[in-house]
Amino acid sequence: MRLIDLSHPILPFEQNPWAQFPAAPKNMVGVTGMFEGVGWFSRAWYLGEHCGTHVDAAIHFNPGGQPVDEIPLADLYGPAVILDFSDKAANADVSPVDVRAGLERVGGLGDARIVLIRSGRSKLWGRPEYHHDMLNMTPQTTEWLLGQGARVLGTDACVWEVDQASRPENLGRRMAGADRFPSHALQRRYDFLILENLANLDQVPTSHFLFVGLPLRLVGGSGSPIRAAAILPG
Ligand SMILES: [Zn+2]
Repeated sequence: MRLIDLSHPILPFEQNPWAQFPAAPKNMVGVTGMFEGVGWFSRAWYLGEHCGTHVDAAIHFNPGGQPVDEIPLADLYGPAVILDFSDKAANADVSPVDVRAGLERVGGLGDARIVLIRSGRSKLWGRPEYHHDMLNMTPQTTEWLLGQGARVLGTDACVWEVDQASRPENLGRRMAGADRFPSHALQRRYDFLILENLANLDQVPTSHFLFVGLPLRLVGGSGSPIRAAAILPG
């Protein structure tokens, strides 16, 4: 068995401000135990629930949705498929026709309920461009994937869809929630999870593989960092 790490490192904000979402709380860490004092080493972190490689629980966009501590672990462990759209331009739409063709290229969904989009943007992680260059997984595409039986939708870019408030035509408009992130807002109608900031999808040698990415059991949480991995034979 071989494991490929699909999570980015989590850093304090001061070490790299671009290694986290600009609008998110700033990751902080402080030393709480030192060998010179208590005789051991320990630290305390302050982190957003959506820092680093993470899962969005249903309650992130649905007030009545499942919080992260109630997600069955089996939902985040199982057969997964990678669809490669790394040749698409910055902020391009990925349409239902695109994902249907992408699935055909890899022989279909099979028994996978975890669909991971390889945008190729993880190579920009930790740089300002990472926050302006992603793919736009449209609501129609999101809905189509859910209709095929997907339960978990993931990307190796910083967000599943482009923030509509960042579109030139919307600059200066006051926008929030579903208007900004219409694909996330489908969590109000469908029970599904979103994974963001995945790493190393380009290192996974097969399109179908066994995925694991378990969240912290944060009671009532809107999401949690996950330690994601591809589990491969050999
Ligand atoms: Zn999130």
